[in-house]
Amino acid sequence: MNNSSVATGALDISGPAWPMVELHCHLEGAITPEDAWSAAAELGIQLPWSSLGELDKAISLPDRSCSLKEWAPIFDAWRGLFSSPELIASLTRKLMARYRAIGCRHVELRFNPIFIARLAGISEDTVVKAVAGALAGLQGMSANLIVLATRHRGTGEAVQAADVAVRNRHMGVVGFDLAGQEIGHPAADYAEAFEIARRAGLRLTAHAGEESGPESIRAALDILGAERIGHGLTLGQDASLLQEVARRQIPLEMCPISNCRTGVTANVAQHPVVQYLRAGVKVTLNSDDPGLFGTTLRDEWQQVQQALSPSDAEMRALVWNGVDAAFLSDSDRALLRSRIEADFVALDADALETKR
Ligand SMILES: [Zn+2]
Repeated sequence: MNNSSVATGALDISGPAWPMVELHCHLEGAITPEDAWSAAAELGIQLPWSSLGELDKAISLPDRSCSLKEWAPIFDAWRGLFSSPELIASLTRKLMARYRAIGCRHVELRFNPIFIARLAGISEDTVVKAVAGALAGLQGMSANLIVLATRHRGTGEAVQAADVAVRNRHMGVVGFDLAGQEIGHPAADYAEAFEIARRAGLRLTAHAGEESGPESIRAALDILGAERIGHGLTLGQDASLLQEVARRQIPLEMCPISNCRTGVTANVAQHPVVQYLRAGVKVTLNSDDPGLFGTTLRDEWQQVQQALSPSDAEMRALVWNGVDAAFLSDSDRALLRSRIEADFVALDADALETKR
């Protein structure tokens, strides 16, 4: 057992035996430079960068909080990465392999098919097919897809994204999400898109309370009918809303490192993830854009453990919350639950063995 990165007495989460569930990860922001470089080489595709180092510089953010200005060139760089269905599929396969290697048991991968389709010059359905095809035959983990609309790309495109999601349910699309700039783009503008998704039986989530106050969370719940909230960082600013979110067990998809890197939280020690968990909120732990930030889902867990010292029971509660909140059928959730029960039994046996 490797205890090198674990504080004395803390639960060992350093290896793939610690089971994780990823509910909030953007395909576009999850790609690592290494995977992009090797995928292009394998496919004989010439990328618009002369070396892996150049690519790394083009698609990674500095290891600190970054301004929006620093994000802009990344979007341009993605144009060179999402350039063909084969490359999109290969990048997705490599991403799933990374998740499996770190011990992730279930991933919900979200993406904007309209954005990627325009970068690649292909149809939205071809984008979904490429991503979905890469999830087929996954070993040792499960995955499904969430199509998202981006607030600042307009309401018309959001409706179009909902249509793409609905007509691709057979490809493994289970949910619909709203991302992008909250300020100046209120939830009400996207009610029609969410209604299209809801009527078709898709599960609903929305980024809210990341850069805006709790009124944005309230609008995502009341106007969009969101079943989960992406981030929900500012929930604590409205005590009655926090109580309601806890009472209704509405899951929060929290991403502490992302919040630090985008400058909405100073550091993980000041992040409310454990505070909300202790207030009875169904908090889950996720990584948002691990490729952009040069992080992994495991880094989220380790930084929360080190900075906020949740108890072992709280750490396990975060895992179980991910299982409960996943957009899975009852039978698939039962499978995931029994898998993770077995993982915890094995971890406990291992810990007992180490003590002897
Ligand atoms: Zn996000």
